[in-house]
Amino acid sequence: MKLDESKILYDRSREVFPGGVNSPVRAFGSVGGTPVFVKRASGSHIYDEDGNEYIDYVDSWGPCILGHGCEPVIRAVQEACADGLSFGAPTRKELTLGEMIKACLPSMEMMRMVSSGTEAVMSAIRAARGYTGRNKIIKFKGCYHGHSDGLLVKAGSGALTGSAPDSAGVPRSYTKHTLLADYNSRESVTRLFGQHPGKIAAVVVEPVAANMGLVPPQPGFLEFLREITTRNGAVLIFDEVITGFRMGLGGAQGYYHVTPDLTTLGKIVGGGMPMGVYGGRREIMEAVSPLGKVYQAGTLSGNPIATAAGIATLKILMDGPELYEELNAKADRLTAALAAALPKAQVNRAGSLFSVFFTEQPVTDYESALTSDTGLYGRYFHYLLENGIYTAPSQFEILFLSAAHTEEDMEKTCRVIEAAAREVK
Ligand SMILES: *Cc1c(COP(=O)(O)O)cnc(C)c1O
Repeated sequence: MKLDESKILYDRSREVFPGGVNSPVRAFGSVGGTPVFVKRASGSHIYDEDGNEYIDYVDSWGPCILGHGCEPVIRAVQEACADGLSFGAPTRKELTLGEMIKACLPSMEMMRMVSSGTEAVMSAIRAARGYTGRNKIIKFKGCYHGHSDGLLVKAGSGALTGSAPDSAGVPRSYTKHTLLADYNSRESVTRLFGQHPGKIAAVVVEPVAANMGLVPPQPGFLEFLREITTRNGAVLIFDEVITGFRMGLGGAQGYYHVTPDLTTLGKIVGGGMPMGVYGGRREIMEAVSPLGKVYQAGTLSGNPIATAAGIATLKILMDGPELYEELNAKADRLTAALAAALPKAQVNRAGSLFSVFFTEQPVTDYESALTSDTGLYGRYFHYLLENGIYTAPSQFEILFLSAAHTEEDMEKTCRVIEAAAREVK
């Protein structure tokens, strides 16, 4: 496979951007080789600067659930552009999108729009602290909630494979209120509540952990978090930046029937444009300015182009919820192929989300995820790439399916997975 153009662009980019990229995992650091420079994408396929074509399972890390260049979404964006790119004033579009979100996720009684998932989670935690008057939060090892200071502790994905697990430049004093629990471990959460009575403002969790590879919640785990937070007067925050509109219209909270106090959204909700949302119980959201004393603002928040893309995307999902059945059927197909081809590996799955871990140990948390053979993953990744399958350049990311993946894509992907299992040692 020729990557000459990508190599030239990568060399130039390294002079301009740290590591040649604008988000670390894109640099192929943990798998080696030259990052593929994407020129364009259409449906389920991406095309690089050298003219190579790939079936895309990165999906911009989740937003493009309808596939790339989905016609009604592109048209909505083009129409919105003609009316101006940003006003810094309230719009009908924001309201439309907010009401659509509320219809899908009734727990989000009141919400605020922001411009990224990072901002959504950071702001939700501030609201929880302001509302409870408490400082401490519990997060889980291996869960990623964006790159805000207080949350960069054992944060999974990019931070997991980088040289330093936790970030330099974050003063200890900024993370001293962040308490760490083990995903799927009730004891670890119970212990922290016991050690810090009346001090814990919130528990923040990915209801399906998808940033250390895919780690589903064990039966009863989310119900347990609901119960212990309620009992202790703490706010339960579901970070649904990946699972929102991915596990179904009702997100992971609808899928598992557990209702959080606050929810954060990103990725799909912006339909491929920069957008995040946080919201939940009215009482808590009324603590946010200008109603309450928790300050939070944004020049481009509720941006009309991003809201147009979000509205068009959610409309298609709400009008055709059978799309989720189709995604599940595609996931059935690929996870079966993976399990058959790689009998010693672990194939984890929740809804249509899945990933493969190169370890013989069941993966239920951060420690077990770390037993994976990342070198083997790197060789497997490159075999797939050279055979036209673009997956995440890290063991600790998941695969994303879209409505645009075709029968032909599935067949080819299964064939390449089988060949990879034979060839890659
Ligand atoms: C991607 C992600 C974020 C951060 O969103 P950005 O838009 O990249 O800032 C937060 N939480 C989860 C669960 C994510 O997957």
